[in-house]
Amino acid sequence: MKKVLSVFALTLISLSYGIAQPAAAIASKPKIVVGIMIDQMRWDFLHRYSDRYGNDGFKRMMREGFACENTLIPYAQTITACGHSTVYTGTTPGLSGIYGNEWYDVQKGRQVYCTEDESVKILGGGAKSAPMSPRNLKVTTVSDELRMATNFRSKVVGVAIKDRGSILPAGHSANAAYWYDGQTGNWVSSTYYMEELPSWVKAFNARKVTDSLYALDWNTLYPIQTYVQSDADDKVYEGKMPGATKPVFPHSLKSYVGRNFGVISSTPYGNTLTLEFAKQTIQSENMGEDQFTDLLAVSLSSPDYIGHQYGPNSIEVEDTYLRLDQELAAFFSFLDKKFGKEYIVFLTADHGVAHVPGYAAEHKLPGGRVGTSSFAAFKNAEAKFNVKKLVANVSNFQVYLNHKVIDSAKLDVNQVKEYLVKELRKESFLHTAYDNADIANAPLPSEIREKYLKGYHPKLSGDIQMVGLSGFIGPGITGTTHGSWYNYDAHIPLVFMGWGIKQGKSYRGTYMTDVAPTIAALLNIQMPSASVGHVISEVIK
Ligand code: ZN
Ligand code: ZN
Ligand code: ZN
Repeated sequence: MKKVLSVFALTLISLSYGIAQPAAAIASKPKIVVGIMIDQMRWDFLHRYSDRYGNDGFKRMMREGFACENTLIPYAQTITACGHSTVYTGTTPGLSGIYGNEWYDVQKGRQVYCTEDESVKILGGGAKSAPMSPRNLKVTTVSDELRMATNFRSKVVGVAIKDRGSILPAGHSANAAYWYDGQTGNWVSSTYYMEELPSWVKAFNARKVTDSLYALDWNTLYPIQTYVQSDADDKVYEGKMPGATKPVFPHSLKSYVGRNFGVISSTPYGNTLTLEFAKQTIQSENMGEDQFTDLLAVSLSSPDYIGHQYGPNSIEVEDTYLRLDQELAAFFSFLDKKFGKEYIVFLTADHGVAHVPGYAAEHKLPGGRVGTSSFAAFKNAEAKFNVKKLVANVSNFQVYLNHKVIDSAKLDVNQVKEYLVKELRKESFLHTAYDNADIANAPLPSEIREKYLKGYHPKLSGDIQMVGLSGFIGPGITGTTHGSWYNYDAHIPLVFMGWGIKQGKSYRGTYMTDVAPTIAALLNIQMPSASVGHVISEVIK
């Protein structure tokens, strides 16, 4: 009797609880997750330009959302394809198979591009536009897990100027990934996803948005003398626009109308174009309209092109972020109107960037430029072992030995490696080098060795790993790059906002690999197959 009563009482309680639920109760899941990756956004850009950020862009995310202020990339090769795949897979290049933007394939004897796929065809591109798919990615993404969790009733779409910035986040089972084709000025896709471009994409392409943005030219948003957070406009180490005589404002774009479609990537209008296409995707694909949570993965590629060309201390970069702040504000207001409080946005980056070596020299900071052709080690090794072409490839800080040459000369490969490592350690531009077969004993502090281990892939890594010095980048005269484990490359922004997200911030050390498991936890879905990250539980209400 007692038992029956208690069951009855429980039923009453749950019934009254059911009735008491207000109509405006928080939905049990969000309508859409919008991931925004800003290509090459250093963490410090959230703060460095904040005096002139408005209230509704970056500052809104920081005010209403949760900022993980001390988020690092946990592996060594801080490169676009690795960053985009890691954010959505929760794992590192050593496991994901996305070893770099491109890497040397020993079997094929050539460089492989991260999303190349000869078995598919490009849709909407030019004659020379290469076909793409996510087939080189060997693990699932959080977007794949969302698709599987709803028996493929959730919709997933990737959007970015860069193919890899769209394809890798969208995952294997995406409904679509769209990227921008610099040859034609079209948004394109491949037969991996569909037979033909949807009519709304063709209609968007017919609007020739790139040309109308070129017509605006690129001048600074505010009077140029107010850009006190940046260096002078005309520096010898800034790259120039095609046909331009100086790297200065106003950057004239009108002459590119109808022809140089790719140049838009190197202007802030690349962000305008991408966010315009992202909004059109949400509208035309009816995203976030049924009971199944959808996911839109947007990557803004232009800050990377601009940063490479002018460097992080340029007026061009400052102006890019001031404009982006306004465009994000408008994009959030679009999401508010469409989804009310039932959406999640997260904002992060694929990597940061080093200062231009010329800037470092001017300010007595460490750094410089170096090409592997200036390394004595390779020449010395060829002389010592009396062979030519001892090294097959040097890329991503890897040395791939030419095993055919070594075998036919009957050399002991371990002796070759030992000698080369010893010689590379003498190079003034390198911190150290080690034999990848002995990575567990690499002469590095354990937390740094861990980063190299997480980037190490048993099939794709080379024979020898080189470890660069802080501030050193490859050869050239202008611009800069990224790709090292150092904090200027590895410290990225990470802010969550919206449905189910707490307000606040944390300085606890978090990692790029934590994003996917955190999104999976918020959505109550399985974490991606090779995820090694942890849920950032402070973020979740
Ligand atoms: Zn990038
Ligand atoms: Zn300039
Ligand atoms: Zn880059």
